[in-house]
Amino acid sequence: MPKQPIRVELSSTKKPKPQSDQLEFGKIFTDHMFVMDYSIDQGWYDPRIIPYQAIPMDPASMVYHYGQSVFEGLKAYVSEDQKILLFRPEKNMERLNRSNDRLCIPQIDTETVLEGLNELIRIDKDWVPDAEGTSLYIRPFIISTEPYLGVAPSSTYKLLIILSPVGSYYKEGIHPVKIAVENEFVRAVKGGTGNAKTAGNYASSLKAQQVAETKGFSQVLWLDGVEKKYIEEVGSMNIFFKINGEIVTPELNGSILEGITRNSVLELLKHWGIPVTERKISIDELIEAHQSGELEEIFGTGTAAVISPVGELIYHDQPYVIQDGQTGEVSKKLYEAITGIQKGTQPDIFGWTVEVDSVVKQA
Ligand SMILES: *Cc1c(COP(=O)(O)O)cnc(C)c1O
Repeated sequence: MPKQPIRVELSSTKKPKPQSDQLEFGKIFTDHMFVMDYSIDQGWYDPRIIPYQAIPMDPASMVYHYGQSVFEGLKAYVSEDQKILLFRPEKNMERLNRSNDRLCIPQIDTETVLEGLNELIRIDKDWVPDAEGTSLYIRPFIISTEPYLGVAPSSTYKLLIILSPVGSYYKEGIHPVKIAVENEFVRAVKGGTGNAKTAGNYASSLKAQQVAETKGFSQVLWLDGVEKKYIEEVGSMNIFFKINGEIVTPELNGSILEGITRNSVLELLKHWGIPVTERKISIDELIEAHQSGELEEIFGTGTAAVISPVGELIYHDQPYVIQDGQTGEVSKKLYEAITGIQKGTQPDIFGWTVEVDSVVKQA
């Protein structure tokens, strides 16, 4: 697929921008969006940037009925020298195509979409917030648009990228959360769609999350869908444990989503010479490690929070406190290293950040 030229239609009006220190997550959107369409005859065509607007949809559009859709999530940050930096965006595009493959959605030309993203951020650059901990959340997604109630892959699709300035995930600094092991519901099974970033995985996770929240827990710890024995993920994050000095994370098994933060954590730990293993880990092993005093840290990883330390684990109504409920050393070190690279305050030793067209944000 050759890279295609991107058409630009600028908005004649500009929305008021929120104050950088009053941002929430995903509630307000910038002035423009990127759109591209797909048809069997034309392939992906007409990549364009247009004013942010509602999209006309036929009520029979397949996405409304059978959920054939995929999405991504990444962030742009303002560096100290006022550059706009993206964190490993090519990884998100590669993953989008892996998700596409699983959902029978046609492959995208990642270069065209990355260029569209770059141009979109350039146009809406004044929306990238620069207060401590804030960022521009980027949501690329693809929906099936053919008006047809038959169960089959759609013959038409729309890819969109929308942008949302978001606040600091940790308003009062990084703090550990309470999580509950989920024994009834499962998020995904091997052979299912757990390793694709698709809307349906989220729809099916809501019930467990809702129940957990009414009990005062912030996330659920998902076990495997077959034996309900092995740990998979926490909420919509990957999970890591520090047991007796070694870092362990569940190996990718087809039902776990391969996080880009997860991959970055693995690379950093290896670089630091901290022992790290990807393997199966059962909930029983974890509880035993806690009882013998060897369970030193638990943390989740994902774009939204980067590192989310776990202070307490609830299993069969029994609480297990980790690290006295404090943030562990490795969690802290990883959080500082990754956010430092993302914001350009630490050397980018792995070449993870990509500057948005050397655009200097106006002060
Ligand atoms: C997106 C996602 C993650 C985290 O991926 P990152 O690339 O690190 O943001 C983990 N688990 C699930 C289920 C996800 O959807």
